[in-house]
Amino acid sequence: MQENQRMSLMKWIWRSFLRIALIPLFVVELVFISIYFFSNDWANDVMMNLFKDEAQEELLHTVSRESKVITMQLESISKTTDLYRQEVEESLKNRALFTEEDQARLHYSSEGVYHTSRNLEEGGVAVFYSGATTPDHNLQKVARLLTTQGLMKHIYKTESLAEAVYFNTHDSLNVMYPYYDVMDQINPKTLIPRFNFYYEADQEHNPSRETRWTEVYLDPAGNGWMASSIAPVYKGDFLEGVVGIDVTLETIRERILDLDIPWEGFGMLVGKDGTILALPQQGEVIFGLDELNEYPYDKQIFTNTFKPEQFNLYNQSETKHFADILAEAKQGLTTAKFNGNDHFLAWSTVEGTGWKFISVVDEKQIFNDLFLLDRKLMKIGALMIFGLILFYLVFFMFLYKRAQKLSHSISDPLYEINNLVHEIGAGRYYQKDESFHIEELDETATSITSMGQTLGTANEELYKAQEELKEKESDLRALVSSIDDVIMRLDENGTYINIWTNDESKLSKTKEELIGTRINDVFYEKDALFFMVTIREVQESGQPKTIEYQIDTLAGKRWFQGRLAPIVDETGEFRHFVLTARDITDLKDLQDSLRKAKEEAEQASKAKSDFLSSMSHELRTPMNAILGFTQLLEYEKDSLTTSQNESVEEILKAGNHLLTLINEILDLARIEAGKLTVSLEPVDVQPVIDEVLGIISPLATNKRITIDHNLDLCNGIYVYADRTRLKQVLLNLLSNAVKYNQDEGCIRVECSVKDGKVHFLVEDTGLGIDDQEIDQIFEPFTRILDEKIIEGTGIGLTLSKQLMALMNGTISVKSELGEGSMFWIELPVVENISTNQNEAVEEESTVLTINEERKSLLYIEDNPANLHLVQKLISHKSNIDFMSAMNGEIGLELAQTHRPDLILVDLNLPGLDGYDVLSKIKDHPSTKEIPVIAISANAMPREIEKGIAAGFQDYLTKPLEVTTFLEALQKHL
Ligand code: ADP
Repeated sequence: MQENQRMSLMKWIWRSFLRIALIPLFVVELVFISIYFFSNDWANDVMMNLFKDEAQEELLHTVSRESKVITMQLESISKTTDLYRQEVEESLKNRALFTEEDQARLHYSSEGVYHTSRNLEEGGVAVFYSGATTPDHNLQKVARLLTTQGLMKHIYKTESLAEAVYFNTHDSLNVMYPYYDVMDQINPKTLIPRFNFYYEADQEHNPSRETRWTEVYLDPAGNGWMASSIAPVYKGDFLEGVVGIDVTLETIRERILDLDIPWEGFGMLVGKDGTILALPQQGEVIFGLDELNEYPYDKQIFTNTFKPEQFNLYNQSETKHFADILAEAKQGLTTAKFNGNDHFLAWSTVEGTGWKFISVVDEKQIFNDLFLLDRKLMKIGALMIFGLILFYLVFFMFLYKRAQKLSHSISDPLYEINNLVHEIGAGRYYQKDESFHIEELDETATSITSMGQTLGTANEELYKAQEELKEKESDLRALVSSIDDVIMRLDENGTYINIWTNDESKLSKTKEELIGTRINDVFYEKDALFFMVTIREVQESGQPKTIEYQIDTLAGKRWFQGRLAPIVDETGEFRHFVLTARDITDLKDLQDSLRKAKEEAEQASKAKSDFLSSMSHELRTPMNAILGFTQLLEYEKDSLTTSQNESVEEILKAGNHLLTLINEILDLARIEAGKLTVSLEPVDVQPVIDEVLGIISPLATNKRITIDHNLDLCNGIYVYADRTRLKQVLLNLLSNAVKYNQDEGCIRVECSVKDGKVHFLVEDTGLGIDDQEIDQIFEPFTRILDEKIIEGTGIGLTLSKQLMALMNGTISVKSELGEGSMFWIELPVVENISTNQNEAVEEESTVLTINEERKSLLYIEDNPANLHLVQKLISHKSNIDFMSAMNGEIGLELAQTHRPDLILVDLNLPGLDGYDVLSKIKDHPSTKEIPVIAISANAMPREIEKGIAAGFQDYLTKPLEVTTFLEALQKHL
């Protein structure tokens, strides 16, 4: 059977039964039956041989025994014959007389036969004296012979086989017992010596004169076929006659051959010449002969009558061969075929006669029992086979039924299980538990139902997950379609696996054409190399990387920014890359234009900065003179008229306003350029406010404005701020509160701490600001009110807001038109401040005084107004010797000659500029120790830093602030 051949369960079980149980059983049974038949056959052969041997032995034994019996019986007759012969010889010697009875029954017949006419009452002999010898009849001889009558009678009676006892003479006298009707039986002219039972005993045939047996012949006396034991009776050498005792074949057959030969065999007697002497009925059938049992004595017998030729074994082709073997040995055993059947023939010679006693047994008969036994065994065998077949039939039927039942008991649950599986397969996951008789199937069904339930649950979860996935998918799709990025999945060699985009024109070919090709092919050569390096780095590090590249897309050359990230599975094993590419062409263009704009802006800024710087320089220089000399005038106000003093005041006010404007513009410009830096440090709030209030109070007083302040809460509070800038902001707020207040108005200044922040509040009862305009007040140069009414620059609040932002603070406003405004700032509080700093700050504020020692000062300046101003400023200091130089060269000479204690240098000198002068001073050993202060109209921080870095001790900007100037002098002289 092929392994994959399909079959029903029933067929499979049935085949299994047949294969495993029935066929081996059947084969074993077959082997046993074969052994049975074979052993039967073998035993049969052995038995046959045994039987054969036994039968042969038995037959030989039988024939030998029977021949002996016959021999003995015939020997007895021979001996009796001899005895009778002797009696006859004796009787012939003596004279004798007829008894009356004999005399009376002896007569001559008309044919000259002397004969007995009747029997004696007690039985007597029959006498026949042939008519052929009539004249020579010796009646005396008859009388003498009749004396043996008694003996003859005795012999006849004692010898059971003896049929007749007789004496025949040479002259044809026959005396015979028992009596017979001689005239009826015997021809009157019979010559007895011509018969075999006479001449076979004569000198010629029997020279030894002993008793012998004749051939079988037909008895002339009417006793049928017989053989005779004959013996000659001599008188001297003359053969007087022959005695004989007849034995009829009938008798032999009945008495001798009626033997119990085993195996239904029969005995037969064969004469010396091969003539069958006695043949029983069975033999007749075999030899196809009719035994001559009856002979019709319808006519008298004159001559020897022998058995016909067909009775001679030598004359028959069937028996010739056997007869030859028979003649060779006295006894023996042979086989011969008669009527097509094998026969066993055992023979033994009957001593004295040369006859052979043969027992013939049909071989079939010997083996008959064996055959019967064999047949019985065969029958048993057949019965066994039949029984086995019957058993197998019944057994097969039983097994078939069992197989059916078994297959049903398995297939039914299997069918149920199958149904269960089908139901589950059809999506009906929750099936009720089936129960079967077979534990395994029961367990299987339970497993399947629980599997169904698990499947059901899993399916539900799967469905849920699918729904979620679908949602996510649609989200993703929406996301992909909503973003302009191209998303690509690549393998480790950079081969496209999938591409998502909502705009295929961003690809170098169509999506279908790209998938399966390598991304390197779309890059320019340098990008391809770089990409391969990046891809390896990302794979090895597991970290995403960003790359920028330009490719030829369907829409032309485009720039992309790609983010290459690895995709790993749950175990962290690398699987693919995802490349998200964003079209940054516009951005690149923008960047380009931005860069250009920036460059332009930078150039513009530089130009502006340069402009502001030069403007500042150019404005500060005259302002230096204006303010300086106005201040000098102020110092000498006592010598001026009131009107002059008012003019001086106006000049000073306008100059200061202009200076403030310049300073604020510069600050704003610096902030915008990102160049204004603040130094944040803990600043004690209270003194700063006090200082500011001190400055503002006179202004307020002018307008009869009252200032209420509640600053107790700020006592000891420090904030992180740039002190100067904080002061600047507060000043701006307070000056605005004064400026935009009404006369006799009110200002409230409050300081509080809340949430780690300090709040400064400046509230006024002034004009207020419209809601719509309130946002604009922090814009530069925004002035809501008419410029003419109230003086202002319009950049104070802008600058304040920028400065607050730089100090990490805020500025806020709340205002109502006509009611007043409320500005407040917030700054982070400094916690745990040490009070030493406070002290230090206080120390710093110590009033400076100039040393009373004699000092010399050199000022190198090309502007005579400035020279004059400085000279004026130090004129009050009598201990300072002032010298000046209009250019660097003269200045250097003076320095080297007088070695002043301090040198002031204007940076913007004709010929050697301030820096050149400094380096020369520092290079010369006699002047290198002298401190040098730069004075320049260039107030740009960059320039200040540059000056300090070059080696100036200080950098003072024009216009000179008198106090600052004097402080610098005091510090360095
Ligand atoms: P200005 O130099 O003009 O004072 P600011 O930047 O300080 O410039 O102020 C901008 C504008 O905001 C002012 O012109 C004014 O109109 C308005 N403003 C400022 N402070 C107040 C205030 N306390 N009350 C009313 N308006 C004010």
